[in-house]
Amino acid sequence: MQDDTLNGFTGFARKNQAQFQYSRDQEEIQAAAEIAFEDSSLAAIPVMDRRWAWMEVNLEAVAHNVVEAKRFLRPGVKLMAVVKADAYGHGAIECAQKALASGAEQLGVATVDEALALRDAGISAPILILAEPPVTAAPLLLAKHITPSVYTAEFALAYAEEADKHNMKAPFHLALNTGMNRIGVRAEDVIAFEQQINFHRALVQEGTFTHFATADSTDTIDFNSQVRRFINAISALRTAGIDPGIVHAANSAALFRYADVQFDMVRLGIAMYGCHPCEQTRGMVDLWPAMEIRARITDVKTVPMSEGVSYGLHYRSPGSVKICTVPLGYADGLNRSLSGKWDFILQGQLVRQVGTICMDQCMFEVDMRSFGSRVRLDPHVGDVVTIVGRDGDAATSLTDMARVIGTIDYEVACNFSRRLPRVYR
Ligand SMILES: *Cc1c(COP(=O)(O)O)cnc(C)c1O
Repeated sequence: MQDDTLNGFTGFARKNQAQFQYSRDQEEIQAAAEIAFEDSSLAAIPVMDRRWAWMEVNLEAVAHNVVEAKRFLRPGVKLMAVVKADAYGHGAIECAQKALASGAEQLGVATVDEALALRDAGISAPILILAEPPVTAAPLLLAKHITPSVYTAEFALAYAEEADKHNMKAPFHLALNTGMNRIGVRAEDVIAFEQQINFHRALVQEGTFTHFATADSTDTIDFNSQVRRFINAISALRTAGIDPGIVHAANSAALFRYADVQFDMVRLGIAMYGCHPCEQTRGMVDLWPAMEIRARITDVKTVPMSEGVSYGLHYRSPGSVKICTVPLGYADGLNRSLSGKWDFILQGQLVRQVGTICMDQCMFEVDMRSFGSRVRLDPHVGDVVTIVGRDGDAATSLTDMARVIGTIDYEVACNFSRRLPRVYR
């Protein structure tokens, strides 16, 4: 090589020559990195300095919603905080702890692993799995004091045998099917079912419950028929001398709409996270949304008129806008079918998401013209954008987002993936 420099960069020009740093072998490079960067200082780089997109969970909102729900409860009625599906995406451990500190007595989950995660976090409150798990998981249930729902004799007896082997009891809640036809013993078969299992000395019926299919709908005929079947089944148990234990049926919608189906406990899910289970409850209770999604702008540019943006180039720039990028995409739970149909909030103003939402990133436009009383925005790399939530006078909700996609807020909430860091406040 006749010249030691290439474009003025000496290191670049010399990188193939043995005496310079760029040719050090891999081991030396690793050793240098270990000296330069200690694990403890690397771990101290906060999550929001590693990724410019995150979920904010306001635990004070969770506490407020639990307290609001409790105002509807008759004296002595227990509250179960339903924290399945990672607390509808909000983080099961944090939400469970907050709910218990705010007056919830029990926790509801969907799977054995969800229950184990709560136990591993040191939570000792009663946990009910709202379905019958595989019987092969019985040792885990017994060891960690996790209560299963039961509706098959096979499960009940195998679970009871496992408990009896260790001189333990096998507590369970009996699931009754009163009309939803998802799981449970048919209400009219409850006595026949009990006769199949109740000879076993280890079984302890700690509760009996059902689940409503239409607690959130304006029509009440089917709801009332489920209530009637449930009450009849509970009376049949009592008449037969069987203690049903804690009787429960109500979800969020039923809690707010029907005062007479509280029985001994209600199961609070969606409302705890600040979403209304249906339109009717809006005027009844003041719920605070707990989840907000935010990101920081990673790129700002003017795109000449008629040039396209993102995969497919389905959006064309009108020329008078700046296109901003945020590092958040459908892999984070920002549903791709929102493409071009959703507004973010920048500095208190709605700005339209444009172009196809990608796996890890998406774009929005900022109109650079000033008109009316509108303040002209001046977006910069690093500015915070609200994807869902409140910023100044503007706010968007999970419910709005669900409506655009054609689903329910439950699904939108729990689809925000674990890749998005959760920030609690
Ligand atoms: C999810 C669930 C709930 C909670 O319902 P919300 O509508 O979110 O209040 C209650 N009970 C059962 C059996 C459930 O599966």
